[in-house]
Amino acid sequence: MAAPNGSPSIITISDDTSRTTSITGSIGPNVVPPQLAVHMPIARTDTLAPTTHEGCPVDCMQLTPIKSLNPYQSLWTIEGRVIKKGYLNNYTTEKRTGQVFSFDVIDKSNSDIVVTSFDQAATSYYNQIQLGKIYTIRGGTLRPAKKDYNNSTTPWDIILDLDSSIKLRTNQSVDIPQYLFRFKTIEEINSSPAKSTIDLLAIALSITAPSTIRKSDRTFNHKRTVLLSDNSTLCSEATLWGAFSDNKGKLLSELCVTKTSVRPVVAIKRAKITPFKGITLATGPNTQIFIDPNITEAHALRAWFTSLDSTIAYPSVSIGKIEETDIAGIKSSSQLGKTLTFSTAATIIHMNMSSFSYPGCTSIVNNQQCKKKLDLTANSSWYCQKCKHDVSHYDYKYASHFIIEDDTTTTWVTAFDEVATSIMGISTQEL
Ligand SMILES: [Zn+2]
Repeated sequence: MAAPNGSPSIITISDDTSRTTSITGSIGPNVVPPQLAVHMPIARTDTLAPTTHEGCPVDCMQLTPIKSLNPYQSLWTIEGRVIKKGYLNNYTTEKRTGQVFSFDVIDKSNSDIVVTSFDQAATSYYNQIQLGKIYTIRGGTLRPAKKDYNNSTTPWDIILDLDSSIKLRTNQSVDIPQYLFRFKTIEEINSSPAKSTIDLLAIALSITAPSTIRKSDRTFNHKRTVLLSDNSTLCSEATLWGAFSDNKGKLLSELCVTKTSVRPVVAIKRAKITPFKGITLATGPNTQIFIDPNITEAHALRAWFTSLDSTIAYPSVSIGKIEETDIAGIKSSSQLGKTLTFSTAATIIHMNMSSFSYPGCTSIVNNQQCKKKLDLTANSSWYCQKCKHDVSHYDYKYASHFIIEDDTTTTWVTAFDEVATSIMGISTQEL
């Protein structure tokens, strides 16, 4: 049994009934440099328990819980549900190009692991794997997981090759969860390290129209920004990029556009924490978004939010008769869905510190400052969608979110530049 070619620091374990596999190079987010890889023997499929009887691999074979997988086991079989199916992506290294495919599996014990394959194996497993189905998997290499990209419960990723075995379980009615989340609150985002990933469950209060940013390669990418709130009563923005903007973002905008107080519950798995404009969230390659997922936590958040329905309103500003009222009056059900201009006296009891300003365009259009929110392009310049050009100067403008309270109730309000400047008593330039 020959050891793989490679650096001497590679640990190779092998015996008579097995052989080693080696994948070298640093490819994809979940793959570690070769010097960190621990190569494990992979049993030939023909030496394993018989697989002719369909029920047998599950019933006759000892299943290994995902949480007890380790690189020193020579043989293991896991059984789990595919809770994420990635895309078949191209990769390029110094030595070669190829394709990579990853999926996530969760087992009965609520442990999950990322499974990755390359090239021919990637194509084969990409065609085979169906989201939501339960499979038995054996014969793979365990490698240390890269935790920047992956918040799975296990310290390992599985690398499969063409000699690995993936079998669809005949009986799919096994009690294995459909989802796995480790939710944090918006309040906890601030104490999470930048660039790490978190799972968040929140109410989508609003979402912007899609905008386009130019990337350094002159191609364009779409994005939308969704305003999220949870029962920590703070708000956070999450930027949905590319396909997330086009698909989930579009659906969210349809759900948020209704003028009722009903708002969708959004579960974001593996949202990236980005230190842009304070702490915000963004989608990354491993992100998943679920709208109104059928999970206990979502029902609880929905119940909490519904209990606030009479106290949360989404007033929009337009011209009309100025009505003097209290917050309860603004939010009385007869007013929902209507636009009204009102005056009220209330106390600011909370300001969302994680997002209160934006970089605004200073170009003069029709004798007025443009003020349009600028987009940061991939080559670090600022681009104005309205003026349709890069701008070299910008001013920060307020778009601040407050909770106001009077003796009837509370509500979220948004104050833009002039109003927020008078509230804050200081301009963004002076801040
Ligand atoms: Zn402009």
